[in-house]
Amino acid sequence: AKNDGRNITRFFTKEMNAKLQQNKEILADLIKSLTQGHFELYYQPLFTIDNNTLVGAEALIRWHHPEKGMIPPDVFITIAEQSGLIHELGDWVLAQACREVKRFLSAGILAIRIAINISPVQFRRKDFVSNMLRILQEQDVSPGFIELEITEGAVMDNVDEAIITMQNLKDAGFQLAMDDFGTGYSSLSYLKRFPIQKVKIDRSFIAEIENDIDSKSIARAIIHMGHSLGLKVLAEGVETQEQLQYLYAEQCDYVQGYFTGRPMPANDFLKKFTIVT
Ligand code: C2E
Ligand code: CA
Ligand code: CA
Ligand code: CA
Repeated sequence: AKNDGRNITRFFTKEMNAKLQQNKEILADLIKSLTQGHFELYYQPLFTIDNNTLVGAEALIRWHHPEKGMIPPDVFITIAEQSGLIHELGDWVLAQACREVKRFLSAGILAIRIAINISPVQFRRKDFVSNMLRILQEQDVSPGFIELEITEGAVMDNVDEAIITMQNLKDAGFQLAMDDFGTGYSSLSYLKRFPIQKVKIDRSFIAEIENDIDSKSIARAIIHMGHSLGLKVLAEGVETQEQLQYLYAEQCDYVQGYFTGRPMPANDFLKKFTIVT
């Protein structure tokens, strides 16, 4: 038994070393890709739930690895966060979203806003707000065209400081959304203190609407309590007509998901939503 224990230890150590080595390689590739332009933003349309009006898009990063092909964000965002590269990557995301929102606007796709994901690591940086504003100024885009999606993890470890940052962002003209709502440890009592405009119900609840009575109740509770706090509510990950119908009946405001539109390259988004007159 003693021997087994040692083997298990050695086994895990080996696994962990392999993982570390792999992450180091990914990081080196990430750095290379950032200078060589191997990243792209996909855009997933956001609609009003009642009359299907396009109100914006969420920008989702894609990495075209030169040898390994497409690598999903879940794999590399954590590595970028741990290494600090997320700051450069996040700057690129904002600048790219600005360049593309200008293309959308000049194609006549009006009254839209681009939502971008903000890592907690970016959000907590002292010069976060001024850095964002600098990029917008360079790109000559007004903050009103950008919505920032922040997660509970970004704000809960220092709520007071986070509120100041959120207020500064709001004062600058950004829209703010609480992403993945319901999965973290935040509560509606905190939500009341946050100067945000929108909550996004996490897609794990939406996926279970038809099968799980608790998820159904949670989705409904978030919609109703969000409204009572004066917030708009978006349901993400809507994949079926049934889910959409339930959310419509509960008066959810916005919808995002494979059912209404998958994430797509900027050119496809342009083609799909430019109204030819
Ligand atoms: P998220 O912010 O919750 O983004 C929504 C994710 O759900 C996206 O995955 C999207 O493709 C996926 N999705 C949308 N509709 C559906 C649906 O109907 N069904 C299912 N099963 N999935 C749906 P994606 O693009 O792989 O992104 C994963 C996560 O990576 C994002 O989760 C976000 O946390 C992070 N991420 C993506 N882009 C960025 C970025 O530019 N910066 C940062 N910091 N994080 C990003
Ligand atoms: Ca998001
Ligand atoms: Ca989300
Ligand atoms: Ca998520």
